[in-house]
Amino acid sequence: MNKDQLKKGLTAIKGTRDILPEEAQLWQIVEAMAKSIFELYAYRELRAPVIEPTELFEKGTGASSDIVTKEMYTFNDKGGRSVTLRPEYTPSVVRAIIEHRLDLQGFPLRFYYIGPMFRYDRPQKGRYRQFHQIDVEVFGEKDPAVDAEIVEMAHRLLNKLGVGNVMTLVNSVGCKSCRPTYGQALRKVALESLDKLCPDCQRKAELNPLRIFDCKLETCQKTASTFPLITDFLCAECREHFEKFLSYLDFYGISYKIEPTLVRGLDYYTKTAFEIVTGDLGSQNAICGGGRYDDMVKEFGGPELCGIGFAMGLERLLSVAKISPARKNFVYFAYMGEEAKKESLRVARYLRSKGIECLVEFKDRGLKAHFSRANKIGANWVLIIGEDELSQGKLQIKDMVTSKQHQGTAEELARILTDKRSQ
Ligand code: AMP
Repeated sequence: MNKDQLKKGLTAIKGTRDILPEEAQLWQIVEAMAKSIFELYAYRELRAPVIEPTELFEKGTGASSDIVTKEMYTFNDKGGRSVTLRPEYTPSVVRAIIEHRLDLQGFPLRFYYIGPMFRYDRPQKGRYRQFHQIDVEVFGEKDPAVDAEIVEMAHRLLNKLGVGNVMTLVNSVGCKSCRPTYGQALRKVALESLDKLCPDCQRKAELNPLRIFDCKLETCQKTASTFPLITDFLCAECREHFEKFLSYLDFYGISYKIEPTLVRGLDYYTKTAFEIVTGDLGSQNAICGGGRYDDMVKEFGGPELCGIGFAMGLERLLSVAKISPARKNFVYFAYMGEEAKKESLRVARYLRSKGIECLVEFKDRGLKAHFSRANKIGANWVLIIGEDELSQGKLQIKDMVTSKQHQGTAEELARILTDKRSQ
């Protein structure tokens, strides 16, 4: 293998990407903000594995959904079991609830998780094969107030991240008792319009006509815009739930648009479905999608437990969030000579015990070279230890932003640094 081939073979897989340290800092900020907001609403983190049995998604996400039919990373493991890299998180949480009987433990069934998902879709800006989601799920709350609360929580996070130009699209996709009637009406018109649908949607017309609304082709979207709407078929219970959900959104002052063709790409939704879009993204404008799934736990063999949740795409969130890394105390050590090196290690050890970030590099450098290195790596403090400092037992520290110098013992300097940090 020549050098070029080797290089080619060693790039990241199409649709996946490295998040390098500078960007990862921003990810950490968003993740920390999300966690702190979710915990304000009594959510707790639940971490499930990245690989799951394939049936989990076939059953949960839905055998006729685009995700299951086209986009899953599925393979047989060495034991011959079919496993899948999770394309979404909800089925994993449902599995974990049933497996650990979390419903019997008495604490609020409110969970969040942040991590990678995998979908074999055509990569483009804002759409990756490995992408990351912030996921939130609540179980056992039938009241539409929780549907609105979860939307309000999503908005709180978006607000805190400075995401502007947002719009909330809402719909009700009905339930087991009203959706079949709608499905029949939809199937009838879809079968009558087969010649105006793509081959994929022609297949869906018989199998699951609701999925035609997910098609990204303009011709199919145009045809689907003439189809009957779910909102005209809702049963009394679903209609009342939807109206109350909307009234709670009004209560929170969240503006929304009713979008009767919003059915979301997953098969399990019942009643509430919603999406938050932003005009600041390009064609992939959905930043958050969610809804209610009142039958999934039962269908998986668990107890009667309704659920609702949302997922936010982290890549998309980061591309529109207005955040910058916080200025940290980062001390670079400029030392000259062996004895000063040892003193640097001692002082760095002490400062780290006080929570201050220190970098001692093991290279012989003169003072000038030390300063240009500190500048290059963005250190905001340079701690100088040379012969004079050693003989006087005092250290010098220079603020790289103001150029102000301070002198003192390690303890005195630690105090200056921690005071600055809290400003
Ligand atoms: P979904 O699970 O399809 O409802 O997606 C929830 C959110 O995840 C979307 O609103 C997007 O922000 C994000 N998302 C979904 N698929 C991708 C993808 N392939 N690449 C990047 N983000 C995605």
